[in-house]
Amino acid sequence: MLHTIAAFDRLGEENAFAVLARATALASQGRDIINLGIGQPDFATPPHIVEAAIKALRDGHHGYTPATGILPLREAVARDLHRRFSVDVSPDRVMIVPGGKVTMFMAILMFGELGVEILYPDPGFPIYRSMIEFTGATPIPVPIREANGFAFSAQETLSLITPRARLLILNSPANPTGGVTPKAEIDALVAGLERHPDVAVMSDEIYASMTYDGEAHVSLLSYPSIRERLIHLDGASKSYAMTGWRLGWSVWPQKLFDLARKLAVNAHSCVNAATQWAGIAALEGPQDCVKKMVEEFDKRRHVVIDGLNRLSGVSCIKPKGAFYAFPNITRSGWKAKPLASALLEEAGVAVIGGPDFGVHGEGYLRLSYANSTENILKAIERMGEFLAHRKAA
Ligand code: PLP
Repeated sequence: MLHTIAAFDRLGEENAFAVLARATALASQGRDIINLGIGQPDFATPPHIVEAAIKALRDGHHGYTPATGILPLREAVARDLHRRFSVDVSPDRVMIVPGGKVTMFMAILMFGELGVEILYPDPGFPIYRSMIEFTGATPIPVPIREANGFAFSAQETLSLITPRARLLILNSPANPTGGVTPKAEIDALVAGLERHPDVAVMSDEIYASMTYDGEAHVSLLSYPSIRERLIHLDGASKSYAMTGWRLGWSVWPQKLFDLARKLAVNAHSCVNAATQWAGIAALEGPQDCVKKMVEEFDKRRHVVIDGLNRLSGVSCIKPKGAFYAFPNITRSGWKAKPLASALLEEAGVAVIGGPDFGVHGEGYLRLSYANSTENILKAIERMGEFLAHRKAA
C-alpha cells in the first residue's frame, strides 16, 4: 500500500487539457472537430526566436544555468518592463521559471497553510484554487461579474479581506472571461490595500500584451506602495506563441526572491538553456510579431462575438483582452457543462464549461478564439444548428 498525503485529494486540474484529449481522440476516430477549447495561440513561434534557440544549442549552451535564470535574460525582462510600463525593476528581482504556472505554484506554496485565506478570481484560472486547496489554505473566491464587464471590483475584493488573508491573486486581462480591469478600479484596490499591509498580491499578467479597443494594460508593478509585497507573473507562452517552450518570468519582493530561488533548486534546477536564449530574442527582437498576432486576434474577436450574439439563448459582451469569449448561455435552458459536453460529442465543437473556472462560471461557456476565422465561423454555425434543434439535457 502506498500512502500519499491527503493534500493530493484536494489537488485539482485544468479541464481544458481533458477537453483537448477528448477532442483529439474524437478527431483520431475521423470526426471533424473544431477546437475552441485550449488556451494557446494558433500561431507558430516567430522564426527569429526559433533560430536563437537553435543557435544557442549550436553554440554549446547545453548545461545547467543559474536557478534564477541567465543574467542577460533577467536583464532583458527588466528592460522590457521598463519599455512597456515605464517601471524600474532590478534584474536581481527577476526570476526565470518554466512557464507562468510555476510562479503561481511557488507563490501559493509560500503563503498557503491551514487557517489562512487566499483570495482568487472566480471564474478564474483553475490552478489558483487547486493549489490553494492543496496547501490547506481556505480559498476565498472573488466573484468576477458580467455586469462589471468581467473586471474585478475593488470594493468587493477589499470587502472579502479578513485578518486571516495572506495572499490576493489578481488577473487582468483575464482567463476565462477576457475581462480587463480599468485603471480607476486598480487604483482604488491598491489604495484600499494600504489598510491590509500583511496581504501579499500576486498579479497574473500573462495576457498583458493582448488588450483591444485602445485599452492600455495597467501593470500592478506601477504601484510603488505595494512593490514590496507584489509578485508579478508573466511569461512568453501567450505573447510570443511559446506555450510548449515553457518559459515564464516573475518579479519578486526582496524578501521572497530567495525562497523562489530555493524552490527552483529543489524542483527544476533551471529553465532549459536554449529556451532562455530564445527568450532574449523574443524580448529584445522586433515586436511586430506580437502586434500582428494581437491584430489578428482582434479581428477574430469581432467575428466570434457577433456570431455568438446571433445565436438564440446566447449573449456575449465584447471582451477587452486575452483571446477568450465568455458567452452567457442561461437563456438557452442548458447548464454549462452538459452543453459543453454535448457540443463536443454531437456538434464537434470543443469549448469549456464555465464551472471549470469556478462556481461563478455557471451559465457561461469559454471559447478560445485562437483558431482561424473560417473555423470560428463554422463552429458558430454548428452551435446555432445545435441550439436550434437540441433540447437542453
Ligand atoms: N495564467 C493564466 C491566467 C493562464 O491562462 C495561463 C495559461 O493558460 C497561465 C497563467 C499559465 O501559463 P503557462 O502556460 O506559461 O504556464
